[in-house]
Amino acid sequence: MKELCGIGVGRAMAVGPVLRMPVALAEPARARRTTGAPAEQRLVSAAFATVSTDLLERAEAAGGEAQEVLEAQSMMAMDPTLVDDVNARIDAGSTGERAVFDAFAEFAERLIELGGYLAERAADLHDVAQRVIAVLRGVPAPGLPESLTPYILVARDLAPADTVLLDPLKVLALVTRDGGPTSHTAILARSLSLPAVVGVEHADDISDGTILIVDAETGRITMAPSADEIATAEERIARLSREQYLDLAPGALRDGEPLPLLANLGSSADCAQAVRLGAEGVGLFRTEFLFLDSTAAPTVAEQQAHYTSVLAAFPGQKVVVRCLDAGADKPLKFLHGGLEENPALGLRGLRALRANEAVLRDQLTALAGAERATSAELWVMAPMVTDLAETRYFVELARELGIRVAGVMAEIPALALMADQVALACDFVSIGTNDLTQYTMAADRMLGSVASYQDPWHPAVLRLVKLIGNAGHSAGTPVGVCGEAASDPLLAVVLVGLGATSLSMTPAALVDVRAELLRFTRAEAARLATQVLGASSAAEARALAQAFTTA
Ligand code: PEP
Ligand code: MG
Repeated sequence: MKELCGIGVGRAMAVGPVLRMPVALAEPARARRTTGAPAEQRLVSAAFATVSTDLLERAEAAGGEAQEVLEAQSMMAMDPTLVDDVNARIDAGSTGERAVFDAFAEFAERLIELGGYLAERAADLHDVAQRVIAVLRGVPAPGLPESLTPYILVARDLAPADTVLLDPLKVLALVTRDGGPTSHTAILARSLSLPAVVGVEHADDISDGTILIVDAETGRITMAPSADEIATAEERIARLSREQYLDLAPGALRDGEPLPLLANLGSSADCAQAVRLGAEGVGLFRTEFLFLDSTAAPTVAEQQAHYTSVLAAFPGQKVVVRCLDAGADKPLKFLHGGLEENPALGLRGLRALRANEAVLRDQLTALAGAERATSAELWVMAPMVTDLAETRYFVELARELGIRVAGVMAEIPALALMADQVALACDFVSIGTNDLTQYTMAADRMLGSVASYQDPWHPAVLRLVKLIGNAGHSAGTPVGVCGEAASDPLLAVVLVGLGATSLSMTPAALVDVRAELLRFTRAEAARLATQVLGASSAAEARALAQAFTTA
């Protein structure tokens, strides 16, 4: 068999030799336990703790999206239901290793039966079980292969704990037997701009050292290609990489309608990469990231210096800066209202700024000063805004302090439902789909156990986006999207169909989103969006969108 097929992620291509992920640990024997149950349970509990701590350490080292995934996995290793199940199996005579193996396998099977996003988390569970068993055996946990030269990584599926350690300069492409478009392999490949083909049924037949051509655009893998095939592939790789770095045309739809593509940034150090990847400005600058370690509120001068360096990187372009979004997952010591039972529902975002108005006034003053010092076009927005009254409060204060363009983030369902009023009272609206999803689905975005709810493809979230899109259209107010949803190429098209007038994303996603938008007119994007809104779940919405594009 020379060609294999799967689901391609991204548009890139790679040629190189295969290195397979080392095989999993041998299945623990079904032998009966010879030690006492309490002693065995103590050993297992210590192994769980070791694995959980190790995963947390990896999470901290990884940062970003990978951090959340690893933290969720670390929680799996401490999940009371699983731990109780393992202990019960040991009480019933099982060895510790076997009890871990069976309990996790049974749980993973239940996830697979549930399908969709949950099924794709089964690989994470399997990985945790392997790590615990490795600790019990005193052997190293299965992990990435060692290599001094670049290679294509082929695996059954990749666990987050491995993928965060993956060196994008070494790994040319990813090929997995399992996994779908939302598996961690796919998420990681997208964020590293690595070509990947997942769900390759016969991936187990590819052996170490085989040369492959991996074409993510078509989902095709050529095994042991001829010299001609390699030459053609290499030509295309060179062309794609030239396009990636040289053809940085502004974002547009198929009929040429401009659709500005902007970058989400958290520090001035990130500006250069965003410019290199063709960002047409900044759609979300998260100012709180600058002050996560500060114990006292930053001074106007200190802030102005930071903001000036960001604005200076985008001369003549739009830079949307978000005022400090303190609280919940991003606590700031100087904007803290005390202990809260539910910080995500507490005094956060604009609420915290309003309770500390001097801090907000200083920030707006510093921002206005930075705009005067550069030629960028500064837009300023408030996070976590609830309704018209809060919108008016922010816009009036911003104007008073010299901000020319003032807007609000739509992250709370209440704001989406009141969008017709809000859009008339501000200069722009920017939809934060991360929080909008969290609050619409009533699922803490930091909590692994409800991670499956944090899916912006859910029609409930998209219906709210449509309300905001419609309101913006009627009021003539621009509506951007700056949540992670904008970095999923197909979902980005849906967002445009729902009325988004610009999209802002992690810079690595710009290339793929730019390419996907070019395949649709606004009318086609609107038809796609209408279909998706009729779905009953996130999985169905995704499937409908994929079917629409292949029809
Ligand atoms: C969002 O909520 O979608 C958003 C962009 O803000 P953050 O992720 O920083 O909360
Ligand atoms: Mg948010």
